[in-house]
This record gives sequence, C-alpha cells and structure tokens, in this order.
Amino acid sequence: MSNASQASVLVSIVVPCLDEEEVFPLLQSALLSVAKRMEPAVAVEFVLVDDGSQDATWSLICAFARVDARVRGVSLSRNFGQQMAITCGYDVARGDAVVSMDADLQDPPELVPQLVEVWQTGADVVYAVRSRRRGEGLFKRASAAFFYRLLRWIGASTIREASGDFRLLSRRALDALGELREQHRFVRGMVGWVGFKSAEIEYERAPSAAGRSKYPLTKMLRLATDAMVSFSVFPLRLTFVFAGILALFVLGYVVNAALQWFVLGVEPVRGWMSLLVSVMAFGALNLFCIGIMGEYVGRIYEQVKGRPLYVVRARTPEP
Ligand code: UDP
Ligand code: MG
Repeated sequence: MSNASQASVLVSIVVPCLDEEEVFPLLQSALLSVAKRMEPAVAVEFVLVDDGSQDATWSLICAFARVDARVRGVSLSRNFGQQMAITCGYDVARGDAVVSMDADLQDPPELVPQLVEVWQTGADVVYAVRSRRRGEGLFKRASAAFFYRLLRWIGASTIREASGDFRLLSRRALDALGELREQHRFVRGMVGWVGFKSAEIEYERAPSAAGRSKYPLTKMLRLATDAMVSFSVFPLRLTFVFAGILALFVLGYVVNAALQWFVLGVEPVRGWMSLLVSVMAFGALNLFCIGIMGEYVGRIYEQVKGRPLYVVRARTPEP
C-alpha cells in the first residue's frame, strides 16, 4: 500500500493516544483521507503511540496496523504523559518531516498538507497556531493566555504562544531536538530552543471530537511548572527580589524608629504582636524560597538518575 518507492519524501504523522477508543475510528479515517490527499507525491507513515491506555486503544492501533502497512504503533508500559508519548513518537518516526498532533481531532488533520507545503518552501519548524479556541471553556482560555504571558515575562521567550503540540519539524530540527534528553519535558518550548527557521499557519481549534480532556487541572499545573522551571531561572532569583523588598521595609522601620527616638523623643512602638508577625512573615518567605529551590534541586536529582524517558511495552510488527 505504501507509495514510498515513487515518493521523494516521507512525512510521519505522530499521534499520542491516551484512552482514545471513542475517537479512534474518526482519527483513523481522518488520517487515511489526509494521506490520500498527499500521496503519491508525498509518502506518509502513521506513528501511533499508546500512552498506557486502559481501554481498547492499543488493540485498535494493532488492528489498524494489520490492514495498513503505513501504521507503526508503539505501546508504552504505563502512562508517561503526552510529552513523553510525543517524544517516543519522534524517536520512532522515520520521516523527512514529522507532524505531531492530538488524537481527538482538535488539531484538524486536514491541515497536514498545508504544513508540509510550508515546510517544502524552506521552513524547518512549522507551527499550527490557534486563532480561536472553540469549545474550550473560558477558564482554559484565560489560564492559557495568562500562562504564556507569564512565560514571556520570566524570559522563556522561545515558546511560541498559542501553539499546542500541533506542528511540523524537519528532519534536522527533529534530530537536534532528539539530542535534548531532559526528563522534564515541555516539548513546545524545547522546539523553540532548538531554533531553525520557523513559520506558522493559523487555524481554529475545534471542540474535541469525542471523549473528555486528559488534562485535569493538576496535570496542567505540572506542565506549566515544567515549562517555567525548565526554561527560566527567574523563580530562583525571586529570592533576591523578596530580600530586596524586605530590606526596604526593615530600613524604613529603622529610620522611622530613629527619627521618633531622636527627633520627637518618643520611644518607638514595641510589642510582641509585631514581633510575631515579622517572624512568621520571614519564616513563610524562607520556606517559599526553599520550596522554589527544591523544585530545581528535585529536577537535578531526577536528571542525574539518567533513567530512560519512557519504557516501550510492545510494537506493531514491522512489515
Ligand atoms: N495524551 C497522552 N497522554 C496523556 C495525556 C494526553 O498521550 O497523559 C494525548 C491524548 O490522547 C491526546 C493529546 O495527548 O491525543 C492531547 O490530550 P487532550 O486532548 O486530552 O488535551 P487537551 O485537548 O485538553 O489539551
Ligand atoms: Mg483535546
């Protein structure tokens, strides 16, 4: 079925799948029709990564692979998270260009040919940027906007705003990315870090075709922390900011007390309440700063263990 012999380029489409049995038939037909549109000029392979699904996702991937030689399925030994599943897909992909997208068709597969076209004009990274987020709640949109602003503000400026994980990477960009084996991965930030010439196309993000979001608030916060801590040391410097502000307060207090004492001749106000409050405030700030440091130290610890990023449980047979 593959047209690889006639085509001059191979494009891999990488899809991480966690419990996507409901949407899988739709995904499968969308992938087939998008491949049909591009072949035979462009050969296509489908890299489907099962991220420890509890439902029938893996058997659906296997069934798809049995009837279509372009499918290459990998199943991870447990849930490693979307960023690791994408990383696995990137490692497995053999294409000259690799597109990653969500399984739930929120990233419309119809756009893949457009991404490929832009790549063929010379861009190494092509982002599909969301112009609107239909079907996503106000909270998700507002928190995403706030998050990207915060990232920019703390200096993580290589992260393209409003780009999810729907993008195309050229082989050389992908190989460069493959060199980055950090344990805490915020792949879209790493793509920015790698550099290369980038371009973008806009699209409207559709509501999820089926199934619920696999990103509960806790998982989203984890990803946000990973993004901040991996791409900025600003949180560590907050300690200096706090120290500066507190020093100003202390200075103000001392000057004020001295003035009262020497100019007005009154004894400065004393009392155990103010003492208690300042001790507690300093204590809380100290703990907060230690907590931030802990985030970084913990990451160093996880990194030096040098564990593999994910563990593969099974693969579909290679033709
Ligand atoms: N996903 C995954 N592992 C996870 C969470 C999500 O592989 O731990 C996949 C999921 O199957 C989907 C994509 O990542 O293909 C995006 O997930 P989702 O649609 O839930 O994210 P959202 O649309 O809420 O950002
Ligand atoms: Mg989704």
